[in-house]
Amino acid sequence: MKGKKKFAILPLLLFLGLAAFKYFSADTWTNPETGEEVKIGLSEDQEEALGMQSYRQVLSESDVITSGPEVDMVRRVVQRLIPTTGDGGDDFEWEVNVVRNDQVNAFCLPGGKIVVFTGILPVAQNEDGLATVIGHEMAHATMRHGAQRLFSNDIYNTVMQGANASMAEMDPQAREKVLGLLGAGAQYGVLLPFSRDHETEADRIGLLYMARAGYDPEASVAFWQRMAEQGGGSQPEFASTHPSHGTRIENLRKFIPEARKQMP
Ligand SMILES: [Zn+2]
Repeated sequence: MKGKKKFAILPLLLFLGLAAFKYFSADTWTNPETGEEVKIGLSEDQEEALGMQSYRQVLSESDVITSGPEVDMVRRVVQRLIPTTGDGGDDFEWEVNVVRNDQVNAFCLPGGKIVVFTGILPVAQNEDGLATVIGHEMAHATMRHGAQRLFSNDIYNTVMQGANASMAEMDPQAREKVLGLLGAGAQYGVLLPFSRDHETEADRIGLLYMARAGYDPEASVAFWQRMAEQGGGSQPEFASTHPSHGTRIENLRKFIPEARKQMP
């Protein structure tokens, strides 16, 4: 027998209580597209401030292109997409910049600051392809996925702190093992499915945006097929938490008829 292996229940109970308190007292927000009420970990002002901060930082470290046909095309697509976001993008101060970078990447920060890397343009190929990816990224921001993720991470961290404190007296190796299992369970059972749900939601809402802007949502399938082809073994960075290409394309096909009805 190796020393003591005491598990103390009290710390875990206290932290679970704290997690429950956080859960029930969290701010909620009603998604204007789905009507769903979700819990969020940041106010709109906080989100916007963080988005602005990251945006400035990215731009200051990047080779920003300010004119030319690529920039014109990106701006045109964004201008067409903005009015389609309705209440979701009402308070946003939309802005887009194109950055010279070979990475296949684009993102939209909370508050509506968009960055498109030149590396994604050959994959987008045309305005419809670009509308697919930018619509998807805009939907992540308007659906407040960052603030929702922050909330779930906070609950997760609180529970893990409790588990950790409860096992403070245990043999360190055994403790590491249990914490590792708990962490992996939460990761695969809760956090990853949660982020995949957000991906699917961004796909669905992104299709609505592109359709309302007059782009054919059917084009999204070809875009994601090109992504799958060029991705090969290594997934592009912005797609790293995304569902497999096959699943995504299957989902898109389900969403296209709904989106088509919103075409002007
Ligand atoms: Zn995404």
